[in-house]
Amino acid sequence: MTSQKKKGRVFSGARPTGRQHLGNYLGAIKNYVALQDEYEECIYCIVDIHALTTVDTTKELKNNTYEMALDWLAAGLRPDDSIIFVQSHVPEVAELHTFLSMVTPLGKLTDLPTFKEKIRYQPQNINYGLVGYPVLMAADIALYKAIVVPVGVDQAPHIEFTREVVRSFNYHYNTNVLIEPQMKATKVPKVLGIDGENKMSKSLGNHIELASSPQETQQRVMQMVTDPQRARRADPGNPDVCNVFTMHRIFSSEEEVETINVECRKAGIGCVDCKKMFAKNLNEHLAPFRARRAKLAEKPDDVWGVLDDGGKRARAIAGQTIAEVKEAIGLP
Ligand code: ADP
Repeated sequence: MTSQKKKGRVFSGARPTGRQHLGNYLGAIKNYVALQDEYEECIYCIVDIHALTTVDTTKELKNNTYEMALDWLAAGLRPDDSIIFVQSHVPEVAELHTFLSMVTPLGKLTDLPTFKEKIRYQPQNINYGLVGYPVLMAADIALYKAIVVPVGVDQAPHIEFTREVVRSFNYHYNTNVLIEPQMKATKVPKVLGIDGENKMSKSLGNHIELASSPQETQQRVMQMVTDPQRARRADPGNPDVCNVFTMHRIFSSEEEVETINVECRKAGIGCVDCKKMFAKNLNEHLAPFRARRAKLAEKPDDVWGVLDDGGKRARAIAGQTIAEVKEAIGLP
C-alpha cells in the first residue's frame, strides 16, 4: 500500500474555531482524510496564531483547539499516518513568515478579496497580522514544502498568493528551495449555510455542527431556507435553487433524490417533510463519527498527546527547511 502512495507532502490548516461544521467537513476535512491514502505524508495544522488576528479573547482558544482535534480524529485523521499539530508549537513558522514578508509587496496583500472581506467584518481592528495573514499561511505551507493543499474554494486566493510568494522568494534568492503548491478542492468546495445564501461559517452563525446531537441537528435543518419563491405548501418548488436539495444530493439515496426532484416541482412533497428526510439521513451519516468522537473524548490526554507528538515531528521538518532557507538567503 505504502509503495503505491504518491511522493510529496500534503498540508492544510484551519483556525481553532471549535467544533467543525458541515462546510469544514465537505469542503476540507473529507479531502484531509482521503489524501492520507494517496500521499506519502500528510500534515494537518490547527492554526492558533492565525486565530489571533480575528478573536477578541483567547479564553476559548485551548478548548477550541481540543474540540477541533477531536473532530478531525473522529472524522478519520490517523496520527500514525499524518502529522496533526498546533501551529504555535513550531516557532519556525514565524521565522519563515518574516523572510517571506521581505519579498511580498504590501499592495498585493491589501488587494486580496479575503482581506477586504475581513476588514468589513472588523473595521475597528485592522491589525498588522490581518494584513499579513496570507504571508503566514504561505509560510505554513512552504515550511513543509507541501505540494498539495486541500481547502475550500474560499481559500483559492490565498493559495494563488502562496504560489506567487514562493516564486518570488525563489527568484529573489536564486534558489529552488521552496515549492509551489497546488490547491485541491472537494466535490463540494463551497457549502452554503442554513440561510441558503452565504458560505456556511461559524462567524455568520449559519452552520450545522458535526458533533451536535440528533435533536439539535434536526432543529438546525428545520431552519434551513429553501426555494424562496415557494411561499406556500401548495406552490410548486424548484430544487435547482434549494440548498436542502443540494444537501440531499450528498447525503440521501439516489431514489430519494429522484423522488424529491420530481415531487417538489409539482408540490407533491412539502419543505417540512423534505427537511425531515434530510435531517434523518444526515444524522444517520454522522452517527459513526459521533460515536468515535464520544470514545475519543473519554481520554483527553491522548488527544493532547497526538498534538504534542505531531508538533515534534513537524518541528523536525521545519528546522530542516529553515536551515535551507537561511542558506539560500545568504544569512551569515
Ligand atoms: P470558518 O469559515 O468556519 O471560519 P475556516 O475558515 O477555519 O472556517 O475554514 C477551515 C477549512 O474549511 C478551510 O479549508 C475552508 O476553506 C473550509 N471551509 C470553511 N467553510 C467552508 C464552506 N462553507 N464550504 C466549503 N469549505 C469551507
